[in-house]
Amino acid sequence: MIWRCSSFEFDVKTPVVMGVLNVTPDSFSDGGRYANLDDALAHARRMVEEGARIIDVGGESTRPGAAPVSPDDELARVLDVVRALAAEGVCVSIDTRHAQVARACLEAGAAIVNDVSGFSDPDMVQAVVGSDCGLVVMHMQGDPATMQDDPRYDDVVTEVRAWLGQRCARLEAAGIARERLCVDPGPGFGKTPQQTIELVRNFQEIAHLGYPVMAALSRKSYIGYAYNIPDPLQRDAASAAEALMACELGAGVVRAHNVAETTKALADLRPEVVLGMGCNVPLVANPGEEREGKIALLNQAISMLCTLPDTQITDISGFYESEPAYYLDQDVFVNAVVIMRTGLPPAELLKYLHAIENSLGRVREIENGPRTCDLDIIDYQLYVIDNEVLTLPHPRALERDFVVKPLLELRPGFVLADGTTVTQDGVTVGKAFRL
Ligand code: ADP
Ligand code: MG
Repeated sequence: MIWRCSSFEFDVKTPVVMGVLNVTPDSFSDGGRYANLDDALAHARRMVEEGARIIDVGGESTRPGAAPVSPDDELARVLDVVRALAAEGVCVSIDTRHAQVARACLEAGAAIVNDVSGFSDPDMVQAVVGSDCGLVVMHMQGDPATMQDDPRYDDVVTEVRAWLGQRCARLEAAGIARERLCVDPGPGFGKTPQQTIELVRNFQEIAHLGYPVMAALSRKSYIGYAYNIPDPLQRDAASAAEALMACELGAGVVRAHNVAETTKALADLRPEVVLGMGCNVPLVANPGEEREGKIALLNQAISMLCTLPDTQITDISGFYESEPAYYLDQDVFVNAVVIMRTGLPPAELLKYLHAIENSLGRVREIENGPRTCDLDIIDYQLYVIDNEVLTLPHPRALERDFVVKPLLELRPGFVLADGTTVTQDGVTVGKAFRL
């Protein structure tokens, strides 16, 4: 998945680290440390050396309870830094809520506008619509001054996702290309620590929107709460671990203060694998409950997948009922798609999948015929192969409605390892209905 930011283009399937550069006297974690130009530039260059591909320059602290800054003061703090870094070829993001600041920084060479108010100011939309910069659209409930006074949600994950989806739809309607957008669910912005934890442990739900997702959780207070670390400056190791977890669940951009530690943690990210599963012979066949029996069987396969070594399921689609494909004289199927991260190499993974199929009573008699359980590797990140035992990406995946529909439910616009974008257009068989 591509995030386009002026002349920069990021494939966020491999996480992109954005280093934080606060040129403020009062930021919660590093306020005052990089307030003069030389110190700020030196710090930015160091973050780039450590692996940051974007530098996010901020001149207004948006920590809870922070006093607002006038746009003039904010601009005076950031403009020279933005101009100097952009001139060095750095991809600069400007972290601002003010259209005036965004405009001036874009003119000075910034490639991204990161707005904690989610472009709710029409003037802010105007500031970016005529450029080709990237946008970070963040969710916040309330305003930094008061946002932590008793924030409430019925369901924080669903509400934040819906809000981000609506904002992005409006930005697209205003003429901003989809691939310029990145969403940030705003950990800690009008959310209690518990609400933030619920949100960050469900990043896959935000990824369902189909935009790159940013994990901006570095040093935040929920980490202090969850790990019992009161001092923000002591939270870097925990922040790096949280960043890794967010990326496992589908985040593609990580905003971090300690770039070296974050980059090191992200090296542990396992490849992402898409599995397709199907069943048309139920586990238990009480008359009239065949569908439930097929679902029970797929659930059993899912619990067995959970036991594979160095493997973690990160997302599961809904169940779909589908028409038989290729060999038509058989019962309807129930299908689903599973996304996981695994350290098992592809051929090894396939052996484990066969073992699961066999233990669930799979018999291979008729090609494409009835089966209790079929587990196919649809895609294995960064891996393309075609030999007698394994073809990746799966050669027939995109003609099968029972693969394409559940995959697009989880990841609209998914791009396979060979660069093909998954769409409904190539579907010819196995029409599927969401149960
Ligand atoms: P189906 O095509 O209906 O899934 P099988 O599950 O019987 O049929 O697959 C037949 C063979 O296909 C497997 O034994 C396996 O070696 C091979 N194969 C090749 N590529 C893949 C893949 N990407 N995922 C799963 N199996 C694959
Ligand atoms: Mg198979």
